[in-house]
Amino acid sequence: MPHPAIDFPPVARRRDLTVAEFVQGVLAGDRVTLGRAITLVESTLAAHETMAQEMLLQLLPHTGRALRLGITGIPGAGKSTFIEALGGRLTSLGHKVAVLAVDPSSALSGGSILGDKTRMPDLSANPNAFIRPSPSAGTLGGVTRKTRETLLVCEASGFDVVIIETVGTGQSETAVDDMVDCFLLLMVAGAGDELQGIKRGVLELADIVAVNKADGDNINRAELARQQYATGLHFMRPKVPSWVPQVVTCSAKTGIGLDELWTLVQAHGKALSESGDFAVHRQQQLVRWMWSLISERLLTAMREHRAVRERILPLELAVAQGQVTALQAATALLEAFGVNIS
Ligand code: GDP
Repeated sequence: MPHPAIDFPPVARRRDLTVAEFVQGVLAGDRVTLGRAITLVESTLAAHETMAQEMLLQLLPHTGRALRLGITGIPGAGKSTFIEALGGRLTSLGHKVAVLAVDPSSALSGGSILGDKTRMPDLSANPNAFIRPSPSAGTLGGVTRKTRETLLVCEASGFDVVIIETVGTGQSETAVDDMVDCFLLLMVAGAGDELQGIKRGVLELADIVAVNKADGDNINRAELARQQYATGLHFMRPKVPSWVPQVVTCSAKTGIGLDELWTLVQAHGKALSESGDFAVHRQQQLVRWMWSLISERLLTAMREHRAVRERILPLELAVAQGQVTALQAATALLEAFGVNIS
């Protein structure tokens, strides 16, 4: 006997929102609209990109007021434990905290361990916090562009502290440093040469270095590492005239040192604001962003150009086999694109 038809409750299909509705919902701090607005920003569909740009334009006057903090460290340094602990403290002080992630590997794998909600269970459930994993947008340039735009959407939605997390592999730190006000490098005291674990270039970006896991048997080792990093940094040229990078110890697990660290982040902001470096830094970031958009778009346009497309493979092969020089091949491709550099 055939089964009688089962009446399932109708599944409510989400209605598409207009740009005005996105803007209104984001500005009102509505979480569902915020999530959808970020999904719109992350979309690679041309129609969505146009809508996202219209929305961003309208949100722009409501952005720029958050403290933007970048955090990097090798896997296992304690980033998620640290952000969970710091984020909890900040929300209890009345802040609204957004946590975004830039994970270069997400472009390849399509997934991201950074910003994974299970890594920060308390903060994920906190009504004054918002956690968003790394977008998987094809290239590091794509990932960082989407994160930068997401940062603006979060600011417009009332988040006054935006933390951007990345992994300490040396690839994505410069991109993150280019969108934050203060860059925090989270280290762990390891055996041997303390400067081994992280690339020197990354250390140069740091405004604050925190040696984490300074608890239990590790306290002395952490203090020793702190002194070594402080000596290392002493020989580097400061990023801005108004701030000398500081090295501290902390424990994300016990919470020791976290209040002092937050005080230091604020002191950094104050020193830069009073000297005028803060505004200059943000202006420089915007100009660099403009140029990085130009290079990204130009490269895409060039790769997709018909006359260029058909010459790419043979020229790559010829370069690889040493039949033409890289410069000759680059010149030929640029000429096919209509750019004459000779
Ligand atoms: P991430 O990969 O950088 O996000 O690191 P996690 O936050 O996942 O931490 C890696 C491991 O270190 C976990 O087992 C944490 O419990 C531990 N951990 C993180 N912070 C501390 C700390 O301050 N002290 C100690 N003893 N362990 C910590």
